[in-house]
Amino acid sequence: MSELVQSLEKSVEFLRGRYPDGNPLLTCLETQLNNLKAKKARIAEKSYAEHIPEASTCCQRLEECAFFEDMQHIDELSDVLKDFISVYCCGPATESCSRLKHLKEHGTPPSEKISPAGDDYSKYL
Ligand code: SF4
Repeated sequence: MSELVQSLEKSVEFLRGRYPDGNPLLTCLETQLNNLKAKKARIAEKSYAEHIPEASTCCQRLEECAFFEDMQHIDELSDVLKDFISVYCCGPATESCSRLKHLKEHGTPPSEKISPAGDDYSKYL
């Protein structure tokens, strides 16, 4: 996510210089940047944050993902659930996520209980 934030910051800075009175694209990018920063701040507050490397990027579906949303409401995540987040959601295996594969194949996300590894995450609570 850091690379994306940096890229958006550069674009916003450039557009602010070019369009000091505002511009629809600038407004759109500023909104995206603010949303990303808010998301990053929310992640940093969570117990799994220490497992996520500083320079890692996160899944583009973080905001819409039912699994990730569920994880935000669990006070004490098990080690397995923390690993799912640090390996799949904000880690090196994002593209291998079963939820993403299901979405690509079927056009709809799987049940909210399906983990990025493809099994029911309830057993890891
Ligand atoms: S579970 Fe999969 S789709 Fe959902 S945020 Fe994590 S990597 Fe992305």
